[in-house]
Amino acid sequence: MAMLDKLDKLDKNDVIELTIEDMGSDGAGVGRYEGMTFFVKDAVTGDKVMARITKMKKNYGFARLEKMLKPSEHRVIPECELHSRCGGCQISVLAYGQQLAYKQKKVQETLNRIGGFAPELTERIFEPAAGMDYPYRYRNKAQFPIGTGKDGKLVAGFYAARTHSIIPVSDCRLGPLVNREVLLAVLAYMEENHVEPYDETRGTGLVRHVLIRNAFATNEVMVCLVINGRRLPAQDKLIAALRGVEGLTGILVNQNRKNTNVILGDVTQLIYGRDYIMDSVSLRDCGSPDFPRTGESVDYRISPQSFYQVNPEQTEKLYSLVLEYAGLTGKETVWDLYCGIGTISLFLAQRAGKVYGVESVPQAIEDARKNAAQNGIVNAEFFEGKAEDVLPQFYQSEDADVDALHPDVIVVDPPRKGCDERCLEAMIQMRPERIVYVSCDPATLARDLKILCDGGYELKRGRVVDQFCHTVHVETIVSIQRKTS
Ligand code: SAH
Repeated sequence: MAMLDKLDKLDKNDVIELTIEDMGSDGAGVGRYEGMTFFVKDAVTGDKVMARITKMKKNYGFARLEKMLKPSEHRVIPECELHSRCGGCQISVLAYGQQLAYKQKKVQETLNRIGGFAPELTERIFEPAAGMDYPYRYRNKAQFPIGTGKDGKLVAGFYAARTHSIIPVSDCRLGPLVNREVLLAVLAYMEENHVEPYDETRGTGLVRHVLIRNAFATNEVMVCLVINGRRLPAQDKLIAALRGVEGLTGILVNQNRKNTNVILGDVTQLIYGRDYIMDSVSLRDCGSPDFPRTGESVDYRISPQSFYQVNPEQTEKLYSLVLEYAGLTGKETVWDLYCGIGTISLFLAQRAGKVYGVESVPQAIEDARKNAAQNGIVNAEFFEGKAEDVLPQFYQSEDADVDALHPDVIVVDPPRKGCDERCLEAMIQMRPERIVYVSCDPATLARDLKILCDGGYELKRGRVVDQFCHTVHVETIVSIQRKTS
């Protein structure tokens, strides 16, 4: 491999030497060569590498690791041997403490760049990221694609990075051990009963995905097969194969006959047991560095289509922080927007006068109401609809008693795309004392906080809660306060 003459124009396939100084939002290492920025896949901060250019843009380029000259002191050998092929964990070669530092830096820098917040401010208010003591076996939900391997055999696994070819993974370290047992049972049933896996290029075959949900507090397990058809042959054989799985509470079949990347279709049929699992979330003492449980808990029922946080241990920390940031005394009116199955709402309700939850998925709202009843909570009311529709309707209707409805606190926990502008405008008009924003995307968090702060709020507290260890996904909680003047 010929080293590049500095005077040459850089081109695809050229090999360059760089030191990785940072990592981008997709986990790729960032280094400079001749003033140009390069994103190097599989390299981490501190690595000194030779990298082969894979793509050139005007002011930056992409490259892949060709030869490691000096590995970073932050590199570790991940527990999972498939880490470099599987697309699931992008930063598992980075020591866990460094992963936390990377995420916190990313959030702060994004708030500075997109939100326009001063670096001194974000540096001062951000508390140390809340990580896990043992950052494995934490996920309570997994969706394994089913397909045919190179040898023609049935495989269950994960998609390789940026592709749709399936890498067989029988034991993903992010999920519980029982998932392996479920997958092996499903594959054995398919084999014995000649049930074909789905072939997405041809649109033929039947079984597309196996979705497993685990409730960690109760050990309940729900298995859902997503199929390209109306029914599963020899259903009783599948039930027999899975019945031995400890904690199995239900088997469902979801129909998805569309040629799409969306995993679940609209129709779900229960073939065994019940169509939900029960879980329980306990509060933790956020004042203590190791977040001990306080004993207060709420029980939840979770339907297959409802959103539920994927990392139960970190969710307990996150919800405890929501309560702390909300600063409730028992009398307040609180709105919980994007409330899902009412998980945050029901904790808020125990500390507030009244809680209103808003959520767009009907099944989740149904779960939320049942969850309130199950926990004996009477001061939480739930509205089905989009937050950006429900809030303006509620406040602008003729019989709305705006004073009585005036919220003290609003909690928002939107999906990655953040809040709709109409929702943000309504929030500003509602003039709550405090807003607690739970976010799974730093860029939309920064964009929305800028709008809210321009509307009369100031940034008070912030913290990264690592819900997605070894991946580049970042969960952040921030509180803002209405300015007094
Ligand atoms: N706070 C909940 C759920 C957060 S996930 C929890 O912690 O479990 C985000 C939720 O927002 C999902 O349940 C999703 O269905 C819902 N959602 C998405 N867009 C919405 C919108 N425009 N208005 C209201 N809810 C929405």
